[in-house]
Amino acid sequence: MATLPAPLEAAADLLIEQGRDIGRDLAERLVLTRDDELPQLIGLAHQVRVRWMGPAVEVESIISAKTGGCPEDCTFCSQSARYTTDVTRRPMLPTAQLVELARHTRALGSTEFCIVVAVRGPNHRLLEQVCEAARAIRAEVDIEVDASLGLLSDGQAEQLAAAGIHRYNHNLEAGPRFFPRICSTHTYADRLATCHRVIAAGLELCSGGIFGMGETWSDRLDLAFALRDLGTREIPCNFLDPRDGTPLGGETPLRPLDALRCTAMMRLINPRAVVRYAGGRELVLRDLQAYGMLAGANGLIVGNYLTTLGRSAELDLAMLADLGMPVAAGPLTGTRGLIATAPAVPLSSPHP
Ligand code: SF4
Repeated sequence: MATLPAPLEAAADLLIEQGRDIGRDLAERLVLTRDDELPQLIGLAHQVRVRWMGPAVEVESIISAKTGGCPEDCTFCSQSARYTTDVTRRPMLPTAQLVELARHTRALGSTEFCIVVAVRGPNHRLLEQVCEAARAIRAEVDIEVDASLGLLSDGQAEQLAAAGIHRYNHNLEAGPRFFPRICSTHTYADRLATCHRVIAAGLELCSGGIFGMGETWSDRLDLAFALRDLGTREIPCNFLDPRDGTPLGGETPLRPLDALRCTAMMRLINPRAVVRYAGGRELVLRDLQAYGMLAGANGLIVGNYLTTLGRSAELDLAMLADLGMPVAAGPLTGTRGLIATAPAVPLSSPHP
């Protein structure tokens, strides 16, 4: 059997043999893995996710409950009111509609339903609406309810927790050095503060980022380590889908192999998290989408994204079945180390 390149050997020893995290120096060497060595990096990331998290894949759906008109200036976002894009503004969906969407989502196999609104942060009325919707969904549908409402002020995370919200999404989006290049209306520190409020309120933190905005590998590692330092429970990996009218509309999409490298690195640095394959994968990975699930991802957003159409949920579920990856029956619980009785690499595990 071919030997692994030295950095991969070192990472395998730490992550799989010793159940320990890798450090920044080793991560800097791992990102230099050549394209012809990428299958080995991907294979290692897959082994790590199975050894730490098991074979199952957590399936989630997100719904844009209030679309467009956001006052912030995030350069990648077609929902900013500052840019002329094809997004149609839509006010908050009524509770009854959110309950129906959650029901539909559950029928597809999702165990998480995330209510997303395009705002800087929720005012009192909006927070109440989301809490009411969360209570109604929890009462009628067997699904966990998540929310993504932007920056939270003191006490708001506690209100969401009391309404039965399980997980809160607030992406750091990028590392601290790169963040000022993609947003000027709030700071990285603002985002970090909301992440800390979420954790302090006992909610699970979902936080990730977007790759392909012009950041360097060093910026990507900054993000991955910042997420690990936060103890992030779920990490959405988005790939920039350059949207007409936004400042990043002319950006060249990531190379598919680099998107796979980003996914694998996120897993190797965050062995305990659900690494969720999110927006932009259809555009960036094209025929290589299944490889992302073999590169350390163990979460999948099915159905449509906030402002772009995803491929059909049925195709994604068929992809998981073809990969022999069972759909998790509920939220995946990360371990604090290796799973004691590690399942075999799950390419032969039973279909759901
Ligand atoms: S805060 Fe969110 S919705 Fe508003 S512009 Fe930034 S990414 Fe878009």
